[in-house]
Amino acid sequence: MEQIVKELQELLDKYNLTIDDAVRIYKEHTNKKIKPRKIQHYATGGMWCYFVKDERNPCGCGSNCYHKEYDTDANIIYCVCNACNSEIYTVKDEYTKNDLSKGTWI
Ligand SMILES: [Zn+2]
Repeated sequence: MEQIVKELQELLDKYNLTIDDAVRIYKEHTNKKIKPRKIQHYATGGMWCYFVKDERNPCGCGSNCYHKEYDTDANIIYCVCNACNSEIYTVKDEYTKNDLSKGTWI
């Protein structure tokens, strides 16, 4: 443990960072890694919205509209509630390609 602390201190000194800087940079970096998401938009602009007919989203917030977010690392499309931002479905693999061909993903 002492050795790790020593090495960490040397790194911080080398880059002239405080431990708070290092934690902030680490968090920014990992957040980006966790959410490399692209959101589906209409070709004409605006987020593409889907409506669940005669039902509500399974998240339970009462909304019936959602949008699609593509995780480029995992190659998975998530359906995300527009109101509460919960992931409510994932698109089956065999439909991913077709979905990606619709609209613009930004
Ligand atoms: Zn919701």
